[in-house]
Amino acid sequence: MAKKTARRKKTGSTSKPNTSAQNTNHKPKADNKSTAEPVGKTPSTKDTTKNSSKQKHPTPSADTTTPNQPTATQNSPVATNSDLETSTESPVVHTAPDETTSIAAATKQSLTPETEEPEPVVSSFSDEQLDHPYEAEPVPEYAPQSEPASVHIEESHVPNIPSMFIMHVTPELAPVAKVGGLGDVVFGLCREMEIRGNHVEIILPKYDSMRYDHIWGLSEVFNDLWVPWYGGAIHCTVFFGFVHGRKCFFIEPHSGDNFFNRGSIYGFSDDVMRFAFFSRAALEFMWKSGKHPDIIHCHDWQTGLLPVMLYEIYQHMGFTHPRVCYTVHNFKHQGVIGAEVLNASGLNRPEYYLDHHRLQDNRNHQAINLMKAGIVYSNFVTTVSPRHAAEAKDHGQGFGLESTLHTHQIKYGGIMNGLDYESWNSEIDPYIPSHYHIDSIDNKYGNKNALRQRLMLTDNEKPIVAFIGRLDPQKGLELISHAIFYTLQQHGQFVLLGSSPDPLINRHFGELKNQLNDNPDCHLEIGYDEELSHLIYAGADMMLVPSRYEPCGLAQLIAMRYGTIPIVREVGGLADSVFDKDYSHRPLNERNGYVFRDYNSEGMESALGRAMACYYQFPEHFRDLMKNAMSYDYSWKNPGQDYLNVYDYVREK
Ligand code: ADP
Repeated sequence: MAKKTARRKKTGSTSKPNTSAQNTNHKPKADNKSTAEPVGKTPSTKDTTKNSSKQKHPTPSADTTTPNQPTATQNSPVATNSDLETSTESPVVHTAPDETTSIAAATKQSLTPETEEPEPVVSSFSDEQLDHPYEAEPVPEYAPQSEPASVHIEESHVPNIPSMFIMHVTPELAPVAKVGGLGDVVFGLCREMEIRGNHVEIILPKYDSMRYDHIWGLSEVFNDLWVPWYGGAIHCTVFFGFVHGRKCFFIEPHSGDNFFNRGSIYGFSDDVMRFAFFSRAALEFMWKSGKHPDIIHCHDWQTGLLPVMLYEIYQHMGFTHPRVCYTVHNFKHQGVIGAEVLNASGLNRPEYYLDHHRLQDNRNHQAINLMKAGIVYSNFVTTVSPRHAAEAKDHGQGFGLESTLHTHQIKYGGIMNGLDYESWNSEIDPYIPSHYHIDSIDNKYGNKNALRQRLMLTDNEKPIVAFIGRLDPQKGLELISHAIFYTLQQHGQFVLLGSSPDPLINRHFGELKNQLNDNPDCHLEIGYDEELSHLIYAGADMMLVPSRYEPCGLAQLIAMRYGTIPIVREVGGLADSVFDKDYSHRPLNERNGYVFRDYNSEGMESALGRAMACYYQFPEHFRDLMKNAMSYDYSWKNPGQDYLNVYDYVREK
C-alpha cells in the first residue's frame, strides 16, 4: 500500500587507580528507580498520520612519568625521556573478573598495526568517506582482542573521599549543545558527581545554536573578561544558567571571528582555532573569577590545549591547585593544526612545543596535535571503555597516537560510560506514551504501536529493527544499508534515525529513503530528533550498532535500558557491554544481545539473523533476553566511582 510522500573520586589515597576489565559491577541487578526532572517539551506530533493494516503482531509472550609527580617547582605531568625510562609504578590491571596482571606486562604488547583488510562489502561511498581506521586482525571468535585497560577501584578500597570541586570544560552538553555521546557523558557524569557530594560546574561556549529552552535562569555574570589572543585580547561575556540542575557557565566572545555564532557547533575551517580560544577563555575565566577547582575535567581534542596552558602559563601566575583529567571520546578527531595556534594562544616558543615529547603531531612534524597535547600534559587520561583503551594503544585504533599512549600508559585507562538514568527511564520518559518496567514489559508494545503510527508503518507481526546514530563511516554505513534490505527480506521492519554533516552520505541515505518510501515496513528519518529517538528506543525490538570502531557507544546501553535487544559488532564499548545470547561465556542470565565480529555483511547477517529467528521461533527466549538486558546497571554509579578515584588519585592533597 502507498505510504507517505514527504514525511523524519579517600583521604590519603596515593596508589594509582587499579584498572579492571569487564565492568563486572554492571551485572544484572534491580532497576534504579529514580525520578525525573521536568523537561521542557512534549513529544512532537509531526508525522502522525498512519496507515495501519491492523494485523496482529506476536508480542513475545512467555515470559612515564607517574602521573602528577611534580618536581619541587613544577606540577606539570609532561614526561621527559628519563621519566619514561625510570617509571616504576605497576598498578594492577584486572583483565577478567578473577585475573590479575601488572600494567607493565599488560603493555608489552606489539605496536604493530593490524593489517588484514576487512572483507569487502557493497559500498557506494568514496575512499575519503570510508577511511578504514580499524582493520581487525583475525582472532578466535569472542576471545578478547587485547587486555582491556580499564580504571576501577572497589568502593571498599576508598571509603571516604573528601568532596571536590570539579570543573568540566567541554564543547558539548546534552541536551543544550549535543552532537554525539560526549554531550550525554558530561550531562550524566556531572549529576553523578553532585549526588556524591561534590561541587560541579561546567564551562562551555555560548553557541547561538543551543537549545535555550533547556537553560533555566540564564543571566550575565561576568561581562569584563579579556582573553589573551594573538598578543592582544578578546572581550568576552560570561553567562550562568542551569541545565536541568547542572551549573553552567557559557562564554561568549565578542570579536570579528564570531567563533560560536555560526548556526552549528562544528564544521568550520577554523574549528581548531575556535576551540583553542575556548580553552584559553575557560582558563582565563577560572583565574579571573577566583575559581580554584580541584579537578579540571577536559573532553576531547577541543580542550587539549587547556592543560598545556595551565602548566605552561597559568601555573607560573599562581594558578597551581587544579589537576587535569582528560577524557578522549573519539581518537579519530585530534585537532591537528599548524604552529600558529601556539602564537594565538600565548604559548609561543614553537621550537619547544614542536617536539615529539610535547605537542608535535606524530605524523606531520610541522603540525601541532591538540589531542596529543591533552594526553601529554594531563595528570590522567581516560577513554570511554576498557576495550577501547587497549584498542587505541595496541590495536591500531589510536589514529597515530599509539606511541604517545604507550609513553603515557601509566596514567591512562578506560572507564565505561554510564547512562543518565533519569533522562533514559522507560517508567517516566515524557517522550513515550506507554511507560513500562521489567515487570510490566508488555506495556513496551504500546510504544511499538505508537512508533508505527507516527512513522506510518504497518501494524503486523514483524519485529522492528532500528538504527539511531550519526551517519558517519565509523558507524558502519555499508552494514546499515545492507541491514535495511536484509531485515525486510527476513520479514522485519526497519527504522533509521540519523544524519551526517557530509552531503554525500545524506544523499545516499536520502536515495535509499526515496527507494523505500512506499514500503510499509520501512522508515528512514534523515535528521536529528531527540524526542523521536526516545520513541524508537522504546518501540523497537532490536537496535543495530554495526560500528567499524566504537569507543563506547551509548545506543546499545540506551536500547538495553528500554528492553530493546542490541545487535552489535564486537568492538570497543560494544564488546564491553553486550554479551551474545548463543556464544558468550557468561551465564545465561547475563547474556543480553547478539554480537558479531567480522566487519562484513555475513558477520552482520549472522547476528541479526539469529536475533530474528529467536524473535519468531522462541519468543519466550527473546523475552528473557529483554529482561536480562533491562536488568543490567549501566547507570553512572560504577563509572562515577571510577572517575572519583581518578580525581582523588591526581588531586593535590
Ligand atoms: P557518538 O558519540 O559516536 O555519536 P554514541 O552512541 O556514543 O555515538 O552517542 C550518540 C548519542 O546521540 C545517543 O544518545 C543517540 O541516541 C544520539 N543520537 C545520534 N544521532 C541521533 C539522531 N539523529 N537523533 C537523535 N539522537 C541521536
